[in-house]
Parts: sequence; structure tokens; C-alpha cells
Amino acid sequence: MTRTASLPRWRSWFVPFAALMAVAEVVMIVAGTHIGFHRLLVWIPAVCGVATAVTAFAATARGATGPLRLFWQRVAVAMSAVLIGAVSQTADIAFVPFDGMPPLGSRALLCYVIGTLLAIIALLRLPGGGRSWRQLTTAVLDLAVVGVTAGVAASEYLGWAVGKFGGRASTWWLNLAMVAIGVAGVTVVVKIMSARRSPAARTALWWLAPIGIAGPLSVILMTAFLPWPHLNGSAAVLAFVGLFGVLAGHAQQRAYTGRGAPSSRVAHPVVYRRGAAIPLVATGLTSLLVGTVYLRTGHLTTIQVAGTTLLLLLVVTRQAFALGENATLLETVARQAMHDELTGLYSRRPFVTAAAGAESPHTVVLIDLKDFRSINDSLGPVAGDALLTEYAARLTRIAGGDAVVARLGGDEFGLLLPGTAEETAATVDRLAAAGDEPLSAAGHEVVVEVSIGIADGIDMYRRAEIALREAGTHTDARVVRWDVSLQRHLNQRATVAADLRRALTAGEFHMVYQPVVALPHGLITGVESLIRWTRADGRTISPAEFVPVAEETGLIVELGEWIVDTVCAQAAQWRRRHGADVLDSIGVNVSARQLLDPGLPEMVAAALARHGLPAEQLTVEITETAVFGGGRALASVQALSELGVHIALDDFGTGHSSLGLLRTCPVDVIKVDKSFVDGLNGTPHQEAIAGAIADIAEKMDLGTVAEGVETPEQARRLFELGYRRAQGFLFARPMSAAAIDELLDPGIGIAA
Ligand code: C2E
Ligand code: CA
Ligand code: CA
Repeated sequence: MTRTASLPRWRSWFVPFAALMAVAEVVMIVAGTHIGFHRLLVWIPAVCGVATAVTAFAATARGATGPLRLFWQRVAVAMSAVLIGAVSQTADIAFVPFDGMPPLGSRALLCYVIGTLLAIIALLRLPGGGRSWRQLTTAVLDLAVVGVTAGVAASEYLGWAVGKFGGRASTWWLNLAMVAIGVAGVTVVVKIMSARRSPAARTALWWLAPIGIAGPLSVILMTAFLPWPHLNGSAAVLAFVGLFGVLAGHAQQRAYTGRGAPSSRVAHPVVYRRGAAIPLVATGLTSLLVGTVYLRTGHLTTIQVAGTTLLLLLVVTRQAFALGENATLLETVARQAMHDELTGLYSRRPFVTAAAGAESPHTVVLIDLKDFRSINDSLGPVAGDALLTEYAARLTRIAGGDAVVARLGGDEFGLLLPGTAEETAATVDRLAAAGDEPLSAAGHEVVVEVSIGIADGIDMYRRAEIALREAGTHTDARVVRWDVSLQRHLNQRATVAADLRRALTAGEFHMVYQPVVALPHGLITGVESLIRWTRADGRTISPAEFVPVAEETGLIVELGEWIVDTVCAQAAQWRRRHGADVLDSIGVNVSARQLLDPGLPEMVAAALARHGLPAEQLTVEITETAVFGGGRALASVQALSELGVHIALDDFGTGHSSLGLLRTCPVDVIKVDKSFVDGLNGTPHQEAIAGAIADIAEKMDLGTVAEGVETPEQARRLFELGYRRAQGFLFARPMSAAAIDELLDPGIGIAA
């Protein structure tokens, strides 16, 4: 950039040189109280120091971009005004003969005042505050209030000062203005530093702050140096103004290299503690002053009356602005509360309010992104944010102008569509498909899967939430619409869930065992354990009903521990009673949720050890779907297999039926689902599958069990297709452990 090139570079000599100038100044002043020398000598380090600061500020601007660069450029301009003032004052000293107080021409003084004002403006316009014009005006009015208060007070004591030290009253006035402005400058710096965030380095601001008191300090020194006309308070102070300026630039420079380029992050809105006390203190002080003066002298000067009137006007204006500013702030806060920062969509609260207040028929659609967290974890939060933003835009486009679209939380979106659920069905279909087309997320193409809950009419937000939860727990349906039957089903489930826990402690569960037999003769070779729940009132509840509920509530982990323990104890007992080889294996069902429990393999190992059962006597039955996704579930199965426990794939053929799974998952037995057995002797199609499974199993050296065999024809056909093991009502229903004992004892087979 050409503008960068035009600015000077930071040089390593800036700091030592400015320090040298300050030291030289001090040495001269100390020496000057003993010896005399040319009165221009003290101005050399002063002018050089300030000139260095100007260059240093410009160099600092070069290293920055945007508002920070503008700030340092402005400060450089402000310091240039001070430099001109210093040169002008030097000229005054050189050419205007004087006696007593060294001259400070109004031109020089004006330059100083302008420089200080420019610096204050630069500070006020420093972003990170995101100062509005109202805030700026309020700050300027605050300064004016302070100035007028000081002025009214000064008018009272000025006469005394002029009388004591001499000099023209107008010069004193300008000096006083400088004092006021200096104090204001320090206040501004401190105020900015107490703001939470500023693009300028904090240490740099700390170095700038003391420059503000240069004005007042030089006035004091000016008077102190009266006995030595070749010394000058302004010169003494200016050398340090230069040094502190250079140090500020240096601190900013270090911040660039230390923390990298100034952050380009969006500044968060900052609420200022505005100087609410200023008008109170100012009016209080002035009233006190005017009151005492009037009591003492019986009259007030024109300045005092005019000043007080002006002050009142300023305070009123200032308060009016501050009130306006408060209103703007409130608006901003309200807007932020209504909208989601990332996507610009509505946030949860206004959405819920809109859904509750919708009068004509509307439909609430809630969308939850599945696996968003894992996308966020693997691609990083930047990609995650980009994904959400793009997805939000897509939803907004599909939903159309009449819809209310909101982001309700991390990865949950809500839409309020005009029309009933039937009327909006087409839109909902398109919304459901919105994630199917890849979204670009910071360079990655991502497809998102969603769960969707829908409801219309009364209480639709809460009902849509229920539907969404239902859609999330069942992998088969991604869009669930609330209706009365869903509610009934859920209520029933909630009752069951509450009952389950109690039933476990009340001992309402027991295990039954269904024989697995050898084909063709039907002799028992093993058993599968199946859980039963008989309530105190005698009613029995099917596992098909309560096992899914136990899975959803996580209670299956506790229940499963009881099952494994009971089954192992039973198997050990049969071995003791009927001999070690009487059964090949005892099957125990383990559900998907149980496989996700990291403690499962250890729990099984402990049960085996406790009852002295060899691991290979136990067969854990899992479904394909439970392990298809790999991860934790597959790891559990591998750990179980390593224990020596056999693994059976249950309901084979109904899930993904991926042959690849037979490679990744350590399977010993395939249990062919009842639906294939039912299809035998019917369509050749079904037979072909059943036959193919038997062939593959044989080639891979896996055992097979045909489930749900009910007729002798099925049994015969299965044998022909290559099945050697079967299970089903044809041979035996699930029965009590004692009944199995009876079966085993005489060693009689159950004839087919
Ligand atoms: P599953 O593992 O496929 O169990 C076989 C189911 O088929 C059993 O139903 C059994 O009684 C039934 N069955 C066996 N032979 C025939 C037949 O010839 N015809 C017909 N129509 N059905 C037959 P059950 O006991 O009601 O169990 C249902 C499901 O509940 C089981 O399916 C299993 O997924 C689950 N389950 C049962 N006990 C347990 C358990 O202890 N733990 C876990 N996690 N799940 C269990
Ligand atoms: Ca089973
Ligand atoms: Ca099964």
C-alpha cells in the first residue's frame, strides 16, 4: 500500500534518543539553578524530544491497519501541533525581550490547546467502544461542564494570581484552559482504559495518560523557575512529553509483534459507565462557590452569573443526550435479545412467544441437526459456525417470507409456518431435505442429518418438542408429527419407565429359557434366555414393550447386570447338575444401549468369574444395527469376544445386513430372523436369501440358528438349505429354568 510506504518505519534509536533528551533537559535544569547559559539551550532537547514523538507515532501508525492506524495517525497530528507550539514558543523566547515570567505567546498556547484537543478527539474516536455520536456528545458536554465549573472557580482566584505573579489576565486564562484540557485528557485516557476492550495496547495508553498533565505541570514549573529566566517550565515538560510519547509508540509496537496483528474479531458491545456523577459534582461545587462568594461580598460578578447559567444549560443538555443514549442502548439490548448473533435469525424467546400468540392456524417445525457436535469437533468451530449460518440461510429461503425462522439453541432450529400441518406438508418435506444437499462449511462439504418434530394448533410449541424428541430417539423416522396417539403412547411409556425401576427392586423380573435344538431330530443343544416381567397384580408385560423403554431411560444397564448375573448363575448350576457338556451355550440378549456402556465387558467378566462359568459357555446376542456404526459398541463386542464369550448376530437380515460387518465384528453365530423362516415354502426369493446366508455362514465357518420355526415344513426345508440349529415354538416355547432341568435330566429330545 502506498500509504504504508509513505509513513516512517519504527527505528531502534527512538527510545534511547528520547530518553537522552529527557536526561539532558533534567541535567540542564539542575545545572541552570547554579550557572547561567543561553536561554534557548533548554529548548533544544524539548523540541528534539517532541519531534521524535511525532515520528514515533507515525511509525506506529504504519504497523497498524484500520481504526488503530487512524488512531495513531491522529495522535501524530496532535503531537505535530504541540511541536509547532514548542517551536513557536522558542521563537517567542528568542525574539521577545522579557523580564520575570518568560513569554508564552497566544499562538504557541493555542497550538498546545489544539494539540491536546486533537489528542482527546483521537482517544474518543478510538473504537472498541463503538461510540455513538450521542456518547461522543455526552463526553464532550461532560468536558464542557467540567471546564465551565473550573472557569467559574478560577474567575474568583484569578485576580489574586495575576496580582501575585504578574502577567496578562488573558495568558492566565489560556493557561487555565490548558490545565482544564489536560485534566480532561487524563480522564479520557483513564476512561478508555477502564473500558473492557480497546484495539490500542493498554500499556501504550498508560504512557499517553501522563502527557495530559503536562499543561498544569508546566504552569507550576513556570512559576517555580521565575528566579532563573534562562530556564523554562514548558521546555522541561516538553522533553518528557516526547519521551512518554515515544514509549507509548514503543509499547504499541511490541504489542504487534508480541500478540500478532491486532485482532480483527468483532468487538462485543461495551456498555460504558458514563460519568453520571460529573453534572452533579459540577453543579454542587458551583452552587457552593457562588453561595460563599455572595454571602461574603453581597454581590456576584458577571462571569459568575453567566458561568452558572451556562453551566445549568450544559447540564440539562448533557442529561438529555445521556437519556437519549440510554434509550439507544436499551434498543440495542432488546434487539440482541431477540436475535441470534451468529445466524441473525430470531432467538428462542421471541420464537416461543410468536408460536404462543399465533392466532390463525400455524405449524411449528422444530429441526435438530444430528451429529452436529461431532462435525464441530472434527472440523473445528469455524467450520461449525459456517455450517450453521449456511443451513440457516437455506431454511429461511425454503420457509418463505411469511415464516418465522429461529435458532433455538446450538444446533436446533424452529420455524413457524402459516397454515395447518396438512397445508405445510410440502414445505416441511423440503425443509427435511434441506440438509441432504451438501453444505459448504469453511472448505468442507457436509451433509447433515436431521430429526424433525411437527405440531399445529393448541400448545404447538411444546407438542412439537415432544415430537422432536420422539424423532431423535427412533432412528427410522426422521420426521415425527405430534398427534393424540403419539401422546397416548408417550404417556404409557412414561408410566412404564416409572414402574420399571420399582419392579427391579421389587423382584418382579425373572428369566425364561427357550431351547435351541439340533436339526433334524430336535434335540436340545443350547438355550436362549429371555426376560419376563410379571407385576404384582399378575399382569405380564412383554419385553418387546418394556425393553425399549428401559433402553431409553438407561435403566437397561442396571437391568442387564441383573440378567447377566442370573443367567450365569443358572448356567453354572446346570453344568454342576447335568455335566459340563450338556449345553453348548446359553444365549443372553444385550441391547444397543448396553453395548455403549463402557463397563459392560468388565461386568460380564466379573459375572463369569463369580459363578465359575467358562466364557465360551455364554453367547451374547447383539443386533446388526447396534454395532453397524462401529465406535464404542463395536469395541465392547471386541472386548467381550476377547474374553472368550461367543457373539451371535441376532435378527440377521432385518438390519443393514452388511457382509462387511462379518469381517469387522467378531461373530461366531448368525441367527436368521423369523421373517425369512416365515417366507420359506413361499416365494423362491425368500428361500434364496435364507439359502445364501447358510452358504456364506458355512464358508466363513460361522454357526447358524434359524429363529421362530413354527411348522415341520419349515424345519425340513431349513435342514435342506443347510441349517443345523433352530429355535421356535415348534420345538419348545420359552420355559422356566426348572422345566429346562426336566428336559436335561432324562436326556430326552423333544421330537419334532
Ligand atoms: P429376540 O432376541 O429376537 O427373541 C426371540 C423372540 O421370539 C422371543 O420373544 C421369543 O419368545 C420369540 N419366539 C421364539 N420362538 C418363536 C416362534 O416360533 N414364533 C414366534 N412368534 N415367536 C417366537 P420375547 O421373549 O417376547 O422377546 C422379544 C425381544 O425382547 C427379544 O427378541 C429381545 O430383543 C428382547 N429381549 C428379551 N429378553 C431380553 C433380555 O434379557 N435382554 C435384552 N436386552 N433384550 C431382551
Ligand atoms: Ca435374541
Ligand atoms: Ca431374534
